[in-house]
Amino acid sequence: MQTGLLIDMDGVIYRSSELIAGADEFIRTLKRERIPFLFLTNNSQRTRRDVTTKLQRMGIDVEEENIFTCAMATARFLAKHKPNGTAFVLGEGGLLQALHLNGYSVVDHDPDFVVVGEGRTLTLENLENAVDMILGGAKLIATNMDPNCPTKSGTRPGSGATVAYLETVTGRKALNMGKPSPIMMRAARKELQMPTSQTVMVGDTMETDILGGVQMGYRTILTLSGSTKREDLDQFAYGPDVIVDSVAELCDPKVFFENRLPRGIIEDDTVANLAAWKLANA
Ligand SMILES: [Mg+2]
Repeated sequence: MQTGLLIDMDGVIYRSSELIAGADEFIRTLKRERIPFLFLTNNSQRTRRDVTTKLQRMGIDVEEENIFTCAMATARFLAKHKPNGTAFVLGEGGLLQALHLNGYSVVDHDPDFVVVGEGRTLTLENLENAVDMILGGAKLIATNMDPNCPTKSGTRPGSGATVAYLETVTGRKALNMGKPSPIMMRAARKELQMPTSQTVMVGDTMETDILGGVQMGYRTILTLSGSTKREDLDQFAYGPDVIVDSVAELCDPKVFFENRLPRGIIEDDTVANLAAWKLANA
């Protein structure tokens, strides 16, 4: 049975701008074996083209079609539920472009939504404006709730920190679109064009990648090359199907998928047997 992979990037493929050993070989193998894959990122700052270029500069040869960001998930969801709406954005290019491509206008007063992503343009004035808009009726949307992000020099505050600030001030709760939200996890599977039973999530973070996969019924692979250590696993009520030191262990995917990963269960699919379903619902 064909398997498709949803793959986190930071901590799985690279750490800040340094490639993780074996990641380039892993992606070359997926392409050679024609295994469908999609990179999933909770970073809304970059467009899919920016992400493609970043990966290419590290020696990972991928196309824009291989990238799916939380900014894309956010913009598509908003466009579906309120077409041609307006947004006040705390974020950068990747988020602005995704909203524009999905028919949204970016405004500086009276928006339908206040949409929060990461970036380096946040000011107290912008936060105050966002507070007034939310109290005035704009809905608060989080592209992701990651509290922080490791950088070369330390830690930078994440989108989740900005969202927490706005939630505290306004007393309103944000709707989160990024991993582990089913909004992004499901949209990514649809983009991959694979059923649930044939989808596998590969990531380094329990609270986003693994929880997101577990909630959707995807099989999950935890890589220990990023934020999670083996001894951390005890504190979670859920766990991955397989743990690997890094994606270098997945470079023989046929052997890995057949020997180490549990088989996908067709009953996990929304409609496992369409003919039987039609008969039962005729
Ligand atoms: Mg990660």
